[in-house]
Amino acid sequence: MKSGFLDLSDEVEEGALVPLRRASILIVDDQATVLQSLYQLFKDSHEVFVATSGIQALNLVKVNPPDLILLDMVMPGMTGMEVCRQLKEDPETQNIPVIFLTANCSVDDEARALDAGAADFISKPFNPRIVTVRVNTQLRLKAKSDLLRRIARTDALTGLSNRRHFNSTLSREWRRCARSSLPISLVFIDVDFFKRFNDIYGHPMGDYCLSSVATAMKSRMWRPADLLARFGGEEFVCLLPETPLEGATHKAQELEASVRALAIAHEGSGVAPVVTISLGVAAAQPAHGDDPRALVDAADRMLYEAKAGGRGQVRSAQIPVSTAA
Ligand code: GH3
Ligand code: MG
Ligand code: MG
Repeated sequence: MKSGFLDLSDEVEEGALVPLRRASILIVDDQATVLQSLYQLFKDSHEVFVATSGIQALNLVKVNPPDLILLDMVMPGMTGMEVCRQLKEDPETQNIPVIFLTANCSVDDEARALDAGAADFISKPFNPRIVTVRVNTQLRLKAKSDLLRRIARTDALTGLSNRRHFNSTLSREWRRCARSSLPISLVFIDVDFFKRFNDIYGHPMGDYCLSSVATAMKSRMWRPADLLARFGGEEFVCLLPETPLEGATHKAQELEASVRALAIAHEGSGVAPVVTISLGVAAAQPAHGDDPRALVDAADRMLYEAKAGGRGQVRSAQIPVSTAA
């Protein structure tokens, strides 16, 4: 039986050249002739966007982050250097490589731009072949670092987010819900009698079961902010920002039904002839300064109750309103 391993490691082996896919490039320059010639150069191989000022560029990047930015250093209004600085300060945009387009650039300018996070320089007037090669080099590096970031937050067996990604998302979403006075819920999920499943059907079948359970639950997740992750072993977590207890309990019941509906035979289960899961739900109304661990502990306690209550079921609790200062 083939396991569901999502093996991305081959793609990042040392020396492997990440193939150059069609990427999106933003060109920022106040001179129409420069925009025109760069647009012509890349329009067939990549998706090209243009901006004529720093402000316009920053607004475009927010809505539609490109894979690379070609940025004029000298523009009226906001300078290229300032645009670069702002991009590098924002965690959402700091990984986008910036190549500066410069005319009569001094050593001092070059040093300051590199210090501001620039990936490379191209001097104007530019040679089309050199521009193409330099842009493609940066796009390859970007594709490789995107892939590494994706691997770092993905569980290899199930393809779901891993525990590290869950932890960072939990603290970010917890703070966001506290700021906006929104509820947040968490579901802890554990496969029932899974040790016996491995004992009866073997470990590879156990792996296949885990990846099937993950896929079934994932198919029930629709909202972009919801996050389903593998917490470890046969345990999963589902983070539901902006969701009160009632909605989270409903979602947990849906997840329970989706796994039961897979109808994976489990002769060793004391619950049903098929694989089932137990789920613990906790909801909170976080306030500034509260610790998300209270939510994790409460969901874990509810999971324990679901196990003690006979497994293959959902137990829920609202955590008390904050006592934090
Ligand atoms: P309960 O209903 O109380 O949760 O019982 P359980 O048997 O599911 O719980 P227990 O914690 O005793 O056993 C969990 C089992 O999950 C033991 C371990 O071998 C198995 N397991 C954990 N991770 C993996 C994995 O990646 N693949 C496989 N095949 N099995 C795993
Ligand atoms: Mg367990
Ligand atoms: Mg278990």
